[in-house]
Amino acid sequence: MPKMNVKKGDKVQVLSGKDKGKQGEVLRAMPAEGKVIVEGVAIVKKAVKPNGVNQQGGIVSQEAAIDASNVMLICPKCGKPTRVGHDWDENGKKVRVCKKCGAKF
Ligand SMILES: [Zn+2]
Repeated sequence: MPKMNVKKGDKVQVLSGKDKGKQGEVLRAMPAEGKVIVEGVAIVKKAVKPNGVNQQGGIVSQEAAIDASNVMLICPKCGKPTRVGHDWDENGKKVRVCKKCGAKF
């Protein structure tokens, strides 16, 4: 399984599918499945039954999980979708490196 380079809170750009080109924040990362849920991406409508919270029931929109290989991380420094490498900071902590501008984050 390919290793995921994105995690919760990252900004990513969608590379394929109907939401291609969209950008959003990763709401949830599921490394075991290699999938991510991205804010505003892969919206599916879902029927819900009335319950305690929602007395009416009805249709809600929510994001479906998409393959992590279909998104590219957006560098928080240069703001461009980029491939990332790995490096270690001065404390020996593993960090990601933007291949475009060299920023570590
Ligand atoms: Zn960058």
